Amino acid sequence: MVYILQSPSGGNSSDRFIPRRANVDFDFSYYLINKSRERPTTNPFKRPEPSSFVNTAKYFYNLNQYRSALRKSMVPDTDRVLTFSSPKRDKTEEWRKDPDNTSSWPVRPRTRPLLDTPSIILDMPDLDTNMWHHVVDWGKKGYIGTIYEGEVHLWHPEEKLTRHITETGERVCSCIKWNRDGTHLAMALTFSAICIWDCIKNKMADVIACRCRSAKCRQVTAFEWTINNCLLTGCSAGRLTSYSRDFVCIKSFYMAHASHIVNIKASCHGNYIVTSGQDHSVRIWKWPEFIEYFEIEISILRSPIKSVDWHPWRDTLLAIGGPRYTTLWNVGTQKQVKIKPHPHSRSLLDALSFNPLSGELVVSYYSHCYGSRGVHFLTVLKDLDVIVDEAQYHFGRVPYLLWDAQGTKLATASADENLCIWDFFGSADVERKYLRPSTKQFSSNTMKSLNLFNCCIR
Ligand SMILES: [Zn+2]
Repeated sequence: MVYILQSPSGGNSSDRFIPRRANVDFDFSYYLINKSRERPTTNPFKRPEPSSFVNTAKYFYNLNQYRSALRKSMVPDTDRVLTFSSPKRDKTEEWRKDPDNTSSWPVRPRTRPLLDTPSIILDMPDLDTNMWHHVVDWGKKGYIGTIYEGEVHLWHPEEKLTRHITETGERVCSCIKWNRDGTHLAMALTFSAICIWDCIKNKMADVIACRCRSAKCRQVTAFEWTINNCLLTGCSAGRLTSYSRDFVCIKSFYMAHASHIVNIKASCHGNYIVTSGQDHSVRIWKWPEFIEYFEIEISILRSPIKSVDWHPWRDTLLAIGGPRYTTLWNVGTQKQVKIKPHPHSRSLLDALSFNPLSGELVVSYYSHCYGSRGVHFLTVLKDLDVIVDEAQYHFGRVPYLLWDAQGTKLATASADENLCIWDFFGSADVERKYLRPSTKQFSSNTMKSLNLFNCCIR
């Protein structure tokens, strides 16, 4: 019961013993199998307009499920008939080209798409979405901090109350960062000053100034807190500085980058620091010695790096998101592990971040190939070229991907002035099932078992 489409060229394949799959209308065949009298007026798999939430990965997943169910109902015993498919490529040839035929990093990927519509959507009026700024951050105590009219405001998803915490004379500008405990907030102030705000006592803990004495230093542009809550700062003049827990300057590198430092990130075990700047360079530093280790050559990118992130439990693995390519590096061997172009044509990468529990890489792409207005893709990867989940929701570019303390909720802040919170592993029931470790995987090796829970000793 297979409906054969007439070939537009006038040729007819119905005399062939084996129907050509290319001419089979599976939708109509499905209709015949189910003995429906009328052809469905709407295709259940029609791709919806991107005017609302769309899970594109779920669309393709459902389509594959449907095809597989249809194939089973049409050809119940596939062992007894010839299978029709394009000739299989020689896998060994592929392996030679790309020897790592599984994921390039340790990951526990989802087996089916889990992203649904955001559970919370917040309006963020006048959100600064300059790609080089850091005006939103989510702390370990659950507070999302953001800069509005020169002061920091906090919001807690459970308390659902906005708090205006700082009184700096509207001097807070374009960069904030919670410490590892979510108790203190580092804020860049005007005139290259740095304010540390104690959110427990709700008062200013310290004010320090960037050590630059040049007019080139306009403000601090990047912060990072190490695992011991020591502060690292980078400024618009390219100076990189480390401070003790008491905010005493320990070490400072003038011209660590030739210009504006965009990102500073410490690796999961704290042995490495990565910095990227608008001078198109990415540098790796050893910590706590705080000495330059090596510079990553990214000549192919020829543009500043917007986003970098370390793997959540493999200390040496670093993902670098460039404008056209994403690369994965092993900083231990100083070698590039993988490089891949973005999956959507004419797309820009605005942010990337590993999920702390599963190790899946979440990437924010903005593609210009879908009409005059671009389309945003929130994509979950298990490898640089394998999409396991993907959603469209925002209308604007999304430079912020932030995790809650548990790593189960993802916040995205967009140029459409919305901050969305996503249940990254689906609804509560699905999340519980997904995060439950398999008993078969337990090992007598304690370290291996810890990894099953995605724990790491930091
Ligand atoms: Zn400076």
